[in-house]
Amino acid sequence: MALSESELITRYFRSCGAQRRDVALGVGDDAALLECPPGMQLVATTDTLVAGVHFPPSIPAAAIGHRALAVNLSDLAAMGARPAWALLALTLPEADEHWLTEFAAGFGALARAHEVALVGGDTTRGPLTVTVQLLGHVPHGRVLTRAGGRAGDLLFVSGSPGDAGAGLALEQGRLEAPPGAAPYLRERFLLPTPRVALGERLGAFASACIDVSDGLLGDAGKLAAASAVGLEISFEALPVSPQLAQALGPEAARALALTAGDDYELLFAVDPARAAELERELPRAQWNYRQIGVLRAGAGAAVVRDGTVMDFSHSGYQHFV
Ligand code: ADP
Ligand code: MG
Repeated sequence: MALSESELITRYFRSCGAQRRDVALGVGDDAALLECPPGMQLVATTDTLVAGVHFPPSIPAAAIGHRALAVNLSDLAAMGARPAWALLALTLPEADEHWLTEFAAGFGALARAHEVALVGGDTTRGPLTVTVQLLGHVPHGRVLTRAGGRAGDLLFVSGSPGDAGAGLALEQGRLEAPPGAAPYLRERFLLPTPRVALGERLGAFASACIDVSDGLLGDAGKLAAASAVGLEISFEALPVSPQLAQALGPEAARALALTAGDDYELLFAVDPARAAELERELPRAQWNYRQIGVLRAGAGAAVVRDGTVMDFSHSGYQHFV
């Protein structure tokens, strides 16, 4: 590498994220020193992105930087936590200065938008791999988990799942979409929007929450299992963006919304007694979420259409991939 490791860290990562007063020591010493506010619990998560496994190697470096942080922000959002500090372990095949500039710009813009300080990390040489560890906090006893859902709770999802899956398929040349839809869908894959503010607000309302990273139906099953309930999703109630409907037609769009990954939306349960208050405090039009089903006694996640349970286990609904 033309740049030494310490030059690289100083140039690209020392002031990449937000500046925060609660960082007593950030990048530069052997470890970071952080002040956790009194009355708060520390919430920690980490996710690794491997080139060619978690994203196509061809995508822009800024999108890789954005995504590496976004997936972790989404995990904290699902816990109702406020993000604060990130660590970045970066494995690079070479110190390409243009790539590093773009990567740090993508990471840094999202970090500053959420007031996240980059407080440390590690830099090594090898196949492109990005690991972010994200720390945040939540008021004591107010954390959201997958486990609190109860039979009778209403089930909601934010955003329009499926868009990112179509964006990935476009990126990989497995799908074609009209010019009116393709740029939007591609951007939903490249620059996912973690629902951080919604997650934090949901701490006061939701009984259970999970972020949708591996496909809505599969992640709904995880929420159901953790809450020891069953759950029913109405096929017709699934929100679909006009662009996804334009690209696939409404039927396949809904199927993709259930099965594709990379959405980073929030799936959450709310006691019906709290529904009116939820709507008042977090108006749906403004916060962009929608009821898609209910929790029931039993087990597993089922999708229902016209009173009939649909089967997504066969490949018929994954026809374009
Ligand atoms: P050490 O050998 O003690 O681990 P390093 O030379 O790896 O120290 O790192 C020096 C400082 O730079 C440390 O504070 C470390 O946390 C930080 N750092 C290293 N790589 C990164 C990175 N990619 N992003 C942010 N901080 C980094
Ligand atoms: Mg190190």
